[in-house]
Amino acid sequence: MSLTVVGSIAFDAVKTPFGERERMLGGSAVHFSLASSFFTDVHVVGPVGEDFGEDEYAVLHARGVNTDDIERVPGGRTFFWRGHYEYDLNTAHTDDTQLNVFGDFRPKLSEASRGADVLFLANIQPDLQRGVREQVPNAELVALDTMNLWIDIARDSLLQTIKGVDVVIINDAEARQLTGIPNLIKAARTILSWGPKALIVKRGEYGAALFSENSYFAIPAYPLESVFDPTGAGDTFAGGFMGYLSSQAKLDEAAMRRAMIFGSVMASFNVEEFGTARVQKLTHDEINERFRAFKQMTHFEEIPFQRTAEIAK
Ligand code: AMP
Repeated sequence: MSLTVVGSIAFDAVKTPFGERERMLGGSAVHFSLASSFFTDVHVVGPVGEDFGEDEYAVLHARGVNTDDIERVPGGRTFFWRGHYEYDLNTAHTDDTQLNVFGDFRPKLSEASRGADVLFLANIQPDLQRGVREQVPNAELVALDTMNLWIDIARDSLLQTIKGVDVVIINDAEARQLTGIPNLIKAARTILSWGPKALIVKRGEYGAALFSENSYFAIPAYPLESVFDPTGAGDTFAGGFMGYLSSQAKLDEAAMRRAMIFGSVMASFNVEEFGTARVQKLTHDEINERFRAFKQMTHFEEIPFQRTAEIAK
């Protein structure tokens, strides 16, 4: 199985209450690629400028990510994002966005990227997402992410794109904004009525929920005592989720639930250090250990009916 991801490749400047970094490798496609590379073969598609050098490529290559479809624009500069977080790490405040080469990006997928079984449309303009989706007609599983900007300025196009994917992966504020419905359960039902088979709502430090036509599954976030930088947690979640599914022969409800855990496991590592630092040195043993911790953390025994009846007396 192989997976293709299209999205931003960036330099990020980030300030949190626990420190700051002026220029780190980032972008939705980078965080996603690194996370999914633990589970499957990954092709990353996105533009960079001449300032994107050997060190940055090396981070992706060290995880075996195929970078043939990274388009290096002569004379261009790489997308740049500056943001900060208050003590509430769930909300990123954007201070500066410089689109640079991302502004004229028209994704062109190679034969290899078009042949992927799994496709992730990370946060880019929804018309472009649709264009990419059309270039990978045989994908078995297609998911997308988006952001408030596109809900604000390109909602109709986004709705059209959502119709053509299997899974929508967004955060709770985006689900409410997209539907105009404050109740998350009703908002989820509405999004599912537009066509996707499943919806994942990410809720930052409160975990994530999976909605499909006939089921609901929710998990907490892994309880970490020190979170340094939440940037890229959403994309890392999606990378763990989609990467795991790409490795599975059967994409049923049980596999989707395990994928939710792998998504959360990967996101929990990502936030432990700034940028991509933690995921770069992550091992499979650490991933499996945290997967088991999740099982332990969320497991409970059934109470025999007789006993509840006695308590009620
Ligand atoms: P998240 O997973 O939501 O924390 O995504 C964080 C990543 O999104 C950062 O590494 C940024 O480089 C990237 N990003 C921020 N703004 C945009 C944007 N307008 N379009 C695409 N990517 C963005």
